[in-house]
Amino acid sequence: MKILFFILTFMSLTAFGKPAEKFCQAGQAKQILQAKKQAVVEADKLIRNMDKVLARTDMTWLQKRKFFISKSILKCAKYKLGTLNFVCGDIEGEYTGWTNPFLSNKVFIEDDFFTPVNPKFKEALLLHEATHHCGTNDASYFDISKRPDDVGVIGWQIVADTYTYWVMHGFCYPGYC
Ligand SMILES: [Zn+2]
Repeated sequence: MKILFFILTFMSLTAFGKPAEKFCQAGQAKQILQAKKQAVVEADKLIRNMDKVLARTDMTWLQKRKFFISKSILKCAKYKLGTLNFVCGDIEGEYTGWTNPFLSNKVFIEDDFFTPVNPKFKEALLLHEATHHCGTNDASYFDISKRPDDVGVIGWQIVADTYTYWVMHGFCYPGYC
């Protein structure tokens, strides 16, 4: 009896602590998991790019500052990808993904996520949403073709679409992409 109790407690604890996909069909949940893995790979690639910039000797610390912040955001997003809950369903407005880091750790995913035009879109979107849980906002380019740059007083490093763009098109120097 004690053993059973222990097993049940252990099972409920692991079920509680594990991130999950909710209201998603089996095929959709599988695609989200796949995209999550790929988003981590992309975040790692970008972190390596940040390291290269941070190792440069022809830049001042002030010039490198945004890259340093960007690296922290990427590391944080990588972690968050493993803890966020993904919820399939309708989102109001024209969003494919939506999250509010101040409300919950849920990321809402629309149906058109599963039929993207660009094959890199899924991992780009998941990384975008994960960065919102690490301090980025939608300051925003909205139009994906626009390149990473500061938006008014908001630095490119805290604009979520900077990361979307990098995943879809590869790393480039903000302001020179
Ligand atoms: Zn966003």
